[in-house]
Amino acid sequence: MKKVVYYGIRDIRVEETEEIQPGKGEVKIKIKYCGICGSDLHEYLHGLFPESPFGHEACGEIVTVGPGVKGYAVGERVCSVVSGSYAEYINCPQERLLKIPVDMDWKRAAVVEPLSGAAYALERAGIKGNEKVFVAGCGTVGLMLLLGLKALGVKTVYMTDLLEYRRKKAQELGATLVWNPLEIKTAAKIKELTSSKGVDVAIEAVGIEATLKDCLSSVKYSGKVIVQGIFTQRASVHMLGFVTRETTMIGTNSIHPELAMSWIKAGNIRPESVVTKIIPLDKIVAEGFEVLVGKNKADIKILVEPSLA
Ligand SMILES: [Zn+2]
Repeated sequence: MKKVVYYGIRDIRVEETEEIQPGKGEVKIKIKYCGICGSDLHEYLHGLFPESPFGHEACGEIVTVGPGVKGYAVGERVCSVVSGSYAEYINCPQERLLKIPVDMDWKRAAVVEPLSGAAYALERAGIKGNEKVFVAGCGTVGLMLLLGLKALGVKTVYMTDLLEYRRKKAQELGATLVWNPLEIKTAAKIKELTSSKGVDVAIEAVGIEATLKDCLSSVKYSGKVIVQGIFTQRASVHMLGFVTRETTMIGTNSIHPELAMSWIKAGNIRPESVVTKIIPLDKIVAEGFEVLVGKNKADIKILVEPSLA
C-alpha cells in the first residue's frame, strides 16, 4: 500500500509499504480522507514535536477488526486520530476511534477532528451565549471556533486575519465583524466595539506573538484568553496588563468529539465548508504541503484522498 513517510524538514515521501494486520485492540481502516492539519504544516517546516501526531485527521471504513476489539465491525464508518494516516490503510487503536453516522458526508467526517479541537477549547473557556468573543485567525482552527461559537448561541464574534480570502470565509460563516490586523489596530477596534470594556473571551488561533498580544489587550478585566494556536517561536508579552487586569490564560490541545458531534447533530453548522481542495496522495507535497506553506495561499483545509488517482 501507499503511505507517506516523514524523513525530515520539507522531506516527506510517498512510498510503497507492506500492509500490516491490526494488532490487539486495533482495527484496520481503509482511509477515505486525511486532512492536512496546521500542526502537520509546522512539523513539515520545523520538525516533529511531541503530542502532535503527523497525519491524524482521518476518516474511513473498517476493513479488519483485530483481536480483542469490542463494539466495532467491518464496514463501519469511523473517524480516527492516529499518526501516519496519510496512507491507504491505517491500524488504529479502538480508543482513538469515533463512530460516525452512515449518512454523514465523508467531507464532514474529515473535519470532525478539528471541530473537536474547537469544542474542547470552547468547553475549557466555559463560554455563554450572551458573551462577546474575539478570535484571532481565520484558518481552520479559527473558523471551527467560529462554528462552535455559533452552535453555542454566541451572537458576537469578532475575528482578524491577514488574508482576505480567509476573512471572507469567516464573514460567510457568520462572524460579526472581520478585519485585517495590519490595517486596523485590534485593541483599539475592540475598545470601540465594546464601549471600552473589552471582550469576555479572546481566543488565539494562529500561534504567533502579534495575535497573542491582540488577545491579551482585547479581553475585559478578569476575562479569559484561550490559546489554541501552535507556537514554534517564543512570544514576548508585557505581563503588567495581564496581572493588573487579572486575566486568565488557558492553553488547549485536546479534543472533545462528543460535543462536536452534538453540534453537527443539532444541524446548524456545516464544518465541511472549510474544505477548499481534495488531492491524491501522490500529490501531497506539490499540491498540499507546498501550497499551504507557500506565499500564494488560497486554501483553508486540504483533504488527501488515497484512492484518488
Ligand atoms: Zn488536526
